Amino acid sequence: MPISLYNSLSRRIEPFAPLDPNRVTVYLCGPTVYNYVHIGNARGPVVFDVLVKLLRRHYPNVVYARNITDVDDKINAAALEQGVPIGTITGRFSEAYRQDMAGLGIAPPDVEPYATAHIGQIVAMIQTLIAAANAYEAQGHVLFDVGSYPAYGALSGRDTDELIAGARVEVAPYKKNPTDFVLWKPSTPELPGWDSPWGRGRPGWHIECSAMSAAHLGETIDIHAGGVDLQFPHHENEIAQSTCAHGGKVFARWWLHNGMLTFDGRKMSKSLGNVLHVHQLLTQHPPEALRLLLLRGHYRQPLDWSDAAMAQAIGTLDGWYRVLRELNDVAIDPDQPLPVPERLEAALCDDLNTPQALAELSVLADAARQAPGAGTKAALLGAGAVLGLLQDDPEAWFKRAGGHAVDAGRVEALLEERRTARAARDFARADAIRHELTEMGVVIEDGAQGTRWSVIKR
Ligand SMILES: [Zn+2]
Repeated sequence: MPISLYNSLSRRIEPFAPLDPNRVTVYLCGPTVYNYVHIGNARGPVVFDVLVKLLRRHYPNVVYARNITDVDDKINAAALEQGVPIGTITGRFSEAYRQDMAGLGIAPPDVEPYATAHIGQIVAMIQTLIAAANAYEAQGHVLFDVGSYPAYGALSGRDTDELIAGARVEVAPYKKNPTDFVLWKPSTPELPGWDSPWGRGRPGWHIECSAMSAAHLGETIDIHAGGVDLQFPHHENEIAQSTCAHGGKVFARWWLHNGMLTFDGRKMSKSLGNVLHVHQLLTQHPPEALRLLLLRGHYRQPLDWSDAAMAQAIGTLDGWYRVLRELNDVAIDPDQPLPVPERLEAALCDDLNTPQALAELSVLADAARQAPGAGTKAALLGAGAVLGLLQDDPEAWFKRAGGHAVDAGRVEALLEERRTARAARDFARADAIRHELTEMGVVIEDGAQGTRWSVIKR
């Protein structure tokens, strides 16, 4: 089944064909680690996790790199404010990032390069650009000469006059042209810095990705991904640097951009006070519901986050897990890999159409409910695995409130006490226990096979 992907560079959906089918390369711009990430920052990693897993089903060897930017003025500011070395900030928040991503069911990348571990490659790339007259030194800075690269602006479709008029570029006295961007900048003694041919300094942000991508994936990569907010200037600048440093070779053959996440229709921002951090959301909601919400919209479209959408995602998963709970006694062969349902795979091959894939998953859940059996159960679980959903034990799913598990031992003890009370016809005590369970967020259903309990979703 061929994969087709929308290429932001050509603005068309194109059949995907890697340069080397035995080594498919994917690069995703990772976080700048100075704070916890918000849920909007998780959309790309979740979406591209589904993409990388799709590619791994089609190709024997996929190398997926997601970098860590651990040198940046925002990191310096945070370190200064808290009176700690930058390593304290970057160590803490890169670890928090890994935990957040794991919490959302995102597989770790094959390579996780750190910018500060690639200063040698960054300096070498800048030297190549200077030698090729694509960059120049001025007052301790090294700048990329945008005028030397006529194709500049092809990805974002902006022309340089428009950029200058719109004041989207920083004007500085050491720049030949306002659109020129920083490859290297000088560091004062209190700032982190490395020795270089241009004095002690630190790299600009854009060059880091170009250098790390070349170091781990090669000069031409198959897919470069990131949020649409990075298209300009970050990705535009990466293309200019990499193409010029590599003698005109194509840098990335496919550019994939995910749309932004809004919150109740508004941009998520500190000033609006509506920033939702992943690490907090993971304690408040079932992680799979967060993941489902992020996959509900097509990745290229904007996606709105709201309490109603969150509740709907939980409700959808409740429905699917209810089917699995009913099928608890149906055994499937543990030695057989779970099937990848064809229609679901077809949806993902069609420019990663996750809304369609989720619709197919619902169809499979209905089929499993109507015709319970090993085949329908395996198909449902297989569909879930493809999307990183339905990975919980169904009983455990219904026994969590928010993101927290309820104390199951306490619930079982109360249920036992209630059984004893009912057997002794002490209905007042039995009712009091039911009330106590309700207070804990637990609902109980008495049935022929005893009492079943689950947790009220908040
Ligand atoms: Zn980048």
